[in-house]
Amino acid sequence: MWSNFHTHTNYCDGKSTLEEQIQQAKELDLLSLGFSSHAPVPFDCQWCMDQEKLGLYLESIKKLKTTTKEIEIYAGLEVDYVPTRVSPNDFSDQLDYTIGSIHFVDALVDGTPWEIDGLHVVFLKGLDEIFHHNHQAAFTRYFELTREMIDLACPTIIGHLDKMKIQNPDNKFFDEQESWYQNEVKETIKAIKKAGAIVEVNTRGIYQKKSATTYPSPWILELLQQENVPITISSDAHHADDLVSQFDTTANFLQEIGFKKIHVLYQGEWKPFTFNENGIIL
Ligand SMILES: [Zn+2]
Ligand SMILES: [Zn+2]
Repeated sequence: MWSNFHTHTNYCDGKSTLEEQIQQAKELDLLSLGFSSHAPVPFDCQWCMDQEKLGLYLESIKKLKTTTKEIEIYAGLEVDYVPTRVSPNDFSDQLDYTIGSIHFVDALVDGTPWEIDGLHVVFLKGLDEIFHHNHQAAFTRYFELTREMIDLACPTIIGHLDKMKIQNPDNKFFDEQESWYQNEVKETIKAIKKAGAIVEVNTRGIYQKKSATTYPSPWILELLQQENVPITISSDAHHADDLVSQFDTTANFLQEIGFKKIHVLYQGEWKPFTFNENGIIL
């Protein structure tokens, strides 16, 4: 029995409907399911929800909460943090929880927010235009923005903490053991701990075969475990078929690292549950 709070639907760039995700969740005997479509942003974005769909999204989830008996349903959004433009605080009042994610770092010369987890050519363009090929400055800025979000508009869950590593396959630019990178991560963990946020262990990179490991990387999970930072497992499912992809292997791995509990939203509260490779133990 699992829960998943990072799921997308056709309200944004997800391929399944709310109902299809729920149907699959029933078949998998999920305990609770949270929807977290990409929140609207005040600039062009292919994969975000249109502002005018937000009302219907929230209304539809509200109805599904009452009509779905077997599984608890929760309303969330994966919200971007772009300084002065959008933050988790803009939506948190209307939701059960927020996932705060950095998908944009500063802006290209033409003013377009720089998307850091999309096409590698787009990444290279920003690395050139904004950071003059200084990858350390670019990755450092990513973590600075993450900490700024935590300080100013802390979400319930920190989304894919080290997502920008998707642009560093086979250590193309650097090794994660380099001290500057480790320091950025450690500073960010300090901020998370102080704010009391939950960190998601996101399996999407693995089943998409875009990352050999979860977001965040295993060595970061070890630090989170040592610091006693709460975690939750999620798949960032853009299709109902991916609702619990790689949860079993990830659970095994988390146990090996020493995690005893994962956090789940259940009966209206985030609570720690023991778990094994088959799921949460009630
Ligand atoms: Zn994301
Ligand atoms: Zn997502």
